[in-house]
Parts: sequence; structure tokens; C-alpha cells
Amino acid sequence: MVISRAFWNAAERALDLLYPACCGLCEEPLRAGRALCDRCDAGLPRLDEPFCDHCGQPFFGLLDGMVECPNCEGRSLGFDFARPVLRRCDESMALIHQLKYQRRVYMARELGRLAAEAFCDERLAWALHERWPLVPVPLHRARQYHREFNQAAEIARAMRDLTGLPVCHALKRVRATRTQTALHRGERFANLKGAFELTRAGRRLAAAKPPGVIVLDDVLTTGSTLGTCALALKRAGCRKVTAVAVVRG
Ligand SMILES: [Zn+2]
Ligand SMILES: [Zn+2]
Repeated sequence: MVISRAFWNAAERALDLLYPACCGLCEEPLRAGRALCDRCDAGLPRLDEPFCDHCGQPFFGLLDGMVECPNCEGRSLGFDFARPVLRRCDESMALIHQLKYQRRVYMARELGRLAAEAFCDERLAWALHERWPLVPVPLHRARQYHREFNQAAEIARAMRDLTGLPVCHALKRVRATRTQTALHRGERFANLKGAFELTRAGRRLAAAKPPGVIVLDDVLTTGSTLGTCALALKRAGCRKVTAVAVVRG
């Protein structure tokens, strides 16, 4: 009996290391396996209509008739459409930063669960039925070495556990690029030219002619990164490529 209690105490301490005791956004204590409390989860602003049906840019206010999206105007993005789940706000960006820069890798489970809400969009209904593979946006080897993990791959893994969709590391980043944050919309595509190539798994995937593929990233800002990844897959023969992101930056 004593041994058993000691065992459970040790197990509980191990879980504390893996999961936080408190919610990532408030001080609410959590049950094991969560990194976000239900109240903060419900308070995260979901991307609701109206939004651009190509890149997911939210439109504000009452709309009358067709609206041209300022982000998509005059350029074609590589994916068929992108479906971000959350709007950008302090809280949604805090979760992304905790995963990416504070290395709270357990946050990927919450972000993967949130990203899976994209399947509520009827345009993605077939993706679940036909088991479209999730392709995380890759990091360059040097950046991944520094960060020790790829946030998009961790989010993809969490989505796989929830949805049963396979993860395929179909792309590699062959060129280290300047960070996109300081660049304008037009410069971003140019900065990414030739940055992605197919891996061996990616070539096998394209040769198998899947009914569709989902490229996945943590944040979609202008869509240049996800668009360039989608283009690489399309050039290799993937017919339908859509994009999913946790946050519309
Ligand atoms: Zn909370
Ligand atoms: Zn748009």
C-alpha cells in the first residue's frame, strides 16, 4: 500500500513535468493532460464568417455583396483555400509563443485540438472521409536544431491523434530564409522562392496521387509560406492542396 502511494506520487510529479499545473492563460488549476482551462478555451475568438473564402482573412462589419480581399488581391496563393481557426488576439498569440519560444511543447496538444476545429468547415468534410495526409510546414535544419522541435510538426501530431489522419513529412526546407515578419506581402513570396523541396516521403506521397493534402502551420499571416509549400506539392502532382492554421495572424 505504501509502495503504491509512493509510486502514484512519483507518477504525479512526472506528469507535472509533462503538463502544467495551471492554465497557460490564467491561474486556473488544471487536470492532467490539459494546458488550457475550459473558460479560456471558450474565450478564444474563433474565426467566424464573414471571412475571405480563399485565405481566411476576416472581414469586419456588415457586408453588402462581394468584397475583394486585400490580402488576395492581385496574386494567386498556391493552396485551394486556407482555413485558420482562431483570430489573432493577445491570447491566441500567447499560446503560439509559449509553444514556439518558451518551448512549452505540451501546448501543441491544445493547439492541435484547436486546429482540428477546421474540420467543422464543410469544405473540409471530405478530408476526414478520404484521410488526407497532414503535411507540416518544415523548419530549416539549422532552425530546428536551435529550437529542438518543429512547432507545426508537433501540432500535426496532436491532430493525427485526434482525427486519425496520417502525418507526412513531405517537405524539407532547403534554403534558410530571412524571417518573414519584417517583409511586405509582395516580398514574402520572393523570399521563399526555392525554399521548399519534396522529401523522399513527399515524392512517394505525390506518386500515390492522394485525393487531397492539407498543409499545416501554426500561424497564417499573408499565406506566403503555406502557399509556397502547397505549390511545391502541386508541382509534384498533388491535385487538391488546402491549408490549415491555428491562428489567422
Ligand atoms: Zn484559463
Ligand atoms: Zn483573401
